[in-house]
Amino acid sequence: MKPLSPLATAWTRSKPPLLRFLDNCLSEFSAETSGHVADYIPELGKADPAYFGISLATLDGHVYEVGDSRVPFTIQSMSKPFVFALALDLLGAGKVEGAIGVEPSGDPFNSIRLNSENHPFNPMVNAGAIACTGLIYDSKGAEAFEQIRLALSRFAGRDLSVDEAVYASESQTGDRNRAIGYLLKTNAVISDNVAGVLDVYFRQCAVLVTARDIAVMAATLANRGINPVTGEQVLSAYAISRTLSVMTSSGMYDYAGEWIYRIGIPAKSGVGGGILAALPARLGLGSYSPKLDKHGSSVRGIKVCEALSSHYDLHMLNRSDDARNVVIADYDIGKSPSRRVRRPQEREILAAHEQEVRIIELVGTLSLSAVDYISRRLAGRMRPQFVIFDLHRVTSTTRAGARLVAEAFEELAALNVTVVLSGVRRASKEWNSLREWTAELKNVRDFYLLDTAIEWAEDQIVYRYGGSIDFHETTELAEQPLLTGLSEEELTDLASLCTIRTYQSGAKILAAGDPADALYFLRSGAVHVTLPDGVRLATLTAGMAFGEMALLEQTRSADVFADMAATACEVPLKDFERFRKQHPRASECIMRNLAQLLADRLIVANAKVDILTST
Ligand code: GLN
Repeated sequence: MKPLSPLATAWTRSKPPLLRFLDNCLSEFSAETSGHVADYIPELGKADPAYFGISLATLDGHVYEVGDSRVPFTIQSMSKPFVFALALDLLGAGKVEGAIGVEPSGDPFNSIRLNSENHPFNPMVNAGAIACTGLIYDSKGAEAFEQIRLALSRFAGRDLSVDEAVYASESQTGDRNRAIGYLLKTNAVISDNVAGVLDVYFRQCAVLVTARDIAVMAATLANRGINPVTGEQVLSAYAISRTLSVMTSSGMYDYAGEWIYRIGIPAKSGVGGGILAALPARLGLGSYSPKLDKHGSSVRGIKVCEALSSHYDLHMLNRSDDARNVVIADYDIGKSPSRRVRRPQEREILAAHEQEVRIIELVGTLSLSAVDYISRRLAGRMRPQFVIFDLHRVTSTTRAGARLVAEAFEELAALNVTVVLSGVRRASKEWNSLREWTAELKNVRDFYLLDTAIEWAEDQIVYRYGGSIDFHETTELAEQPLLTGLSEEELTDLASLCTIRTYQSGAKILAAGDPADALYFLRSGAVHVTLPDGVRLATLTAGMAFGEMALLEQTRSADVFADMAATACEVPLKDFERFRKQHPRASECIMRNLAQLLADRLIVANAKVDILTST
C-alpha cells in the first residue's frame, strides 16, 4: 500500500469532536478526588478510586470510549430501570403499575418507607426495585434471575456475568434490604419467599458491566428500546418510555428534582460508581468512577453529565424544531413538467391547467408538526386535482405524523384530490406502514420515480380536458417540430431519404458510445432516452425526433429504447448533410428549430435545479 501523505495521516488520526470532548472531561475531572467509595457492601470498598472511564453511544450505533471504559464494575442500582421495563413487558403494565407507584419520594435510595397505600413510591428506590424483582420472581421462580440477566445482556449487546464476590458480600450484609423485603411481604406487595427475592435482587445488582456497556444500554433506552449496536428491539417502546419517565422523576433519588432541573437528562446512578444517562432520540452515556457523593452517585460521573448537558445545551426541555424544513420543493408542472416531450395539443392542455398538478418534495422526518405544516401549505393555494408527494428523501415517519398523514389523505379524498406518492420502495418498512395508513383510500397512487408520477398525472389532465394520447397514430414529417417551416417540396425531398424502421417493445434502438450517424423521426409508438446509469432523460412519442444530436456530436451519449412497438423514419447523417447543402433555407430552419428545442430543454433543466435550491 502507498504510504499516506502527512496531511492524510493527520486526517485519519484526527478525532471526532465528541471524542475530544470526552477526552477533555476525562482529563479535567480526573483532578476531582472528593467523595467516598461505597463500603456498606464490604466488597465494593475494594474498588480502586482512580478508575475513570466514559463512553457515549450514538443512536446510529457508534460508541465513543475514553479512559477505563472497559473496566468491569457492578451495575447496582442502574439495573433498576431495566428490570422495571422487563417487569412491565413480562407481567403486563396493569400488574406492575398496580403494585409500584411512580411518584418521587424525595428519599434516599435505601429508605424503608412506603407510600400511603403501603406500596413502594417508585421503582427507582430499593423498595420499588425489590418489589419489581419480587413480581418477576413470583411469576418465574427459579428462572427469574436468568431472565433478568438475559434482558440486561440484550440491552448491553453482550453476555453479562455476575461478580460472585460482590454478590456474596451484599448477601451477607444486606439486612436493610431484607427488612424492606419483609415490609413488602407484610403489605402483600410480594408473596412469600423474601429470601428468594432478595437473592435475585442481590445477584441483579452484582451483574458486571463496563462504562461502554452502560452507554449502549442507555442508548437503547434513548432509542425506544432498539439497541443501536445490535439492532435488536429489546423491550417494547411502552416499557421504555415509562422507564424513562420514572428515571426522570426519581432516577437520582433525593437529588432527582435538582438533577432534572439542572441537567435535564433522564439518569440513574449505582453505588458501584456507574452513572447512566439516556437522552431520548439522541444518545446514551455511561461513566464509571467509584467515589460517591452523599446521595450515592459518582462525583465525577455527575460532572461529566453536567458538562455534556451544558456544553452542548442538551437539556431535554430546551428544544425547538422548525417543521418548515420538511418541504424542500413545492411547484407545479408549469414550472417543472415531466421529461415526456409532449405534442402541441397536449402541451396546450397542460399549459392551461398547469396548477392542477402540484408537486411537493419532502425531506427528513414526517412528524406531527411537519405533516400539519404540509397540509396547511396545501390548503393555502388553489386546490389542485393531483398532489404528488415525493418521499425519496423522507427518512422516517413518527406515529403521530403517520396518523395525521392518513387524516390529511382522507380530507383530500373527500375533495376529489388524487394523491400520488413517489419514492417509496416496495417491501420497505415505510411502504408497509404507508399501505397500512392508506389501505382504505381509493385516491392514493404510487410510482417509484417522481418523473413517472408527474407524467402519469399529466396524462390524466390531458384526458380530463378532452385530449388524447394515441401512441398508435402515425404522424407525418410535417408535424415534426424539428422540421417546422419547411416547404412541402423540401419535406418530400427529405422523405425520399427515409427508411422506415420498426421496433419491438423494449428494443434498444441506439446505444451510448455508438457512432452518431443517423437521425430519426418517430412516426408511431414511444421511445425513451436514458443515460447509461439508468437516469431517464426524456420520453418521446410520435411526431418527435430522436438521435438528432447527431447534428452536433460524433458519438451517442445516451441509449434509446422503444417503450412499445414503434416506427421511425431513419435518415442517414451523410444524406441529411447533403440535403442541407442542397436546401440552404431549410437547413437554416432546421438548425434554428434545433436551437429552440435545446433551449426548451435547458429551461426545464434549470427550473429543476432552481426549484431545489430556492424553496
Ligand atoms: N445493591 C445496592 C443496594 O440495594 C444498590 C443501591 C444503589 O446502587 N443505589 O443497596
